[in-house]
Amino acid sequence: MAVQLESFPVSIQFQIEATSGLGRAGRLLTPHSEVETPVFMPVGTLGSVKGVSQDVLEELGVQILLGNTYHLYLRPGVETVRRMGGLHGFMSWERSILTDSGGFQVFSLNDLRKVSEEGVTFRSHLDGSSHFFSPESAMEAQIGLGADIIMAFDECTEFPADRERVRSSMELTLRWAERSKKYFEEHKGEVPWGRSRLSAVSSQENAKSLDSARDDNQAGGRTNASAATQALFGIVQGGMDRELRRESALRTVEIGFAGYAIGGLSVGEPREVTREIVESTLAHLPTDKPHYLMGVGTPDEIALYAQMGVDMMDCVLPTRAARHGLLFTSEGKISIKQARFAQDGGPLDPGCGCRVCQRYSRAYLRHLYAANELLAQVLNTIHNVSFYLDTMRAVRHSILLGDRAHFLSEPSRPKS
Ligand SMILES: [Zn+2]
Repeated sequence: MAVQLESFPVSIQFQIEATSGLGRAGRLLTPHSEVETPVFMPVGTLGSVKGVSQDVLEELGVQILLGNTYHLYLRPGVETVRRMGGLHGFMSWERSILTDSGGFQVFSLNDLRKVSEEGVTFRSHLDGSSHFFSPESAMEAQIGLGADIIMAFDECTEFPADRERVRSSMELTLRWAERSKKYFEEHKGEVPWGRSRLSAVSSQENAKSLDSARDDNQAGGRTNASAATQALFGIVQGGMDRELRRESALRTVEIGFAGYAIGGLSVGEPREVTREIVESTLAHLPTDKPHYLMGVGTPDEIALYAQMGVDMMDCVLPTRAARHGLLFTSEGKISIKQARFAQDGGPLDPGCGCRVCQRYSRAYLRHLYAANELLAQVLNTIHNVSFYLDTMRAVRHSILLGDRAHFLSEPSRPKS
């Protein structure tokens, strides 16, 4: 589908196609592919969505994956990935990728880290070796990994924390955001793909869109438009304090990024608080830039956040839960290990069109799980990822329909 895109040198381009209430349906064009938003991004921590191969992810319609800088930095190392053409080349994934900054992963190491103005010293969870991340080195690592979208280095404030602690942490994140941006602007030309990468994929549909966008840029008199670069997103912090969140959002926007993330949530706070902070923070973000909510939620929650104006989300829940036999279905969450499924010949989810639900019975999936077969983790993950993608597609569809969608009693996932 041809879309009119605003003109600026290619990193990402974002266009909102329709709104419904606060919800937005849009298209995000990255140097590698087009992403329909709101979008759920499966987590591929180590360059792999655990248990699911890239061809299956493509078949499921995954348009963008998330990789973890901390894990990839430790293993196999940024230099190895960079030499293989970045994550896209290394893991043979032609579509879009986003990497986190490593800040949250380092934050979760607790006793193994020490924070200073300069950065964070941490010990590897693998072998105890000592490492250091600064805004500059986190940018260097993410440029080497070569994701389409990369994140400013931030400090994820712990919960609970008193106001002074939240403020000083927020201020540190703002100073690190400025340093992240400065380093990125000076080094963004070092990404392992670029002109050669773009000409190599020019036969593909996605690249056609990008080419036409580039032509638009050139027609508009822009120069240097063919030098595709990564896009850097800023991260809003501020704990569970609405006023600090507002200040963090306004000052992060002042620094200026290609998109804005809401970080520091899902760290143990009640869900109602998460919802309030998301809602109040979104109100202070520019409407023409992508809004990314980091590390949330259940299918109901991601549907709700999308309707509130979030464009991008990621969460380990569907993949991690799948490996523990917990499956999200249109009839609610089920634990496939339960004995009541032992003789159940029905599909896992009668409302799901994924390859697992089309082919296998609950009895078989329960048997695989009980027998500790590898295939259990593979099939469970495929279904859960598919369910999350379907949930986002349903929200996107209802936003595109706008007022005509009011008859849907449950916009998050119409039951069939
Ligand atoms: Zn399914």
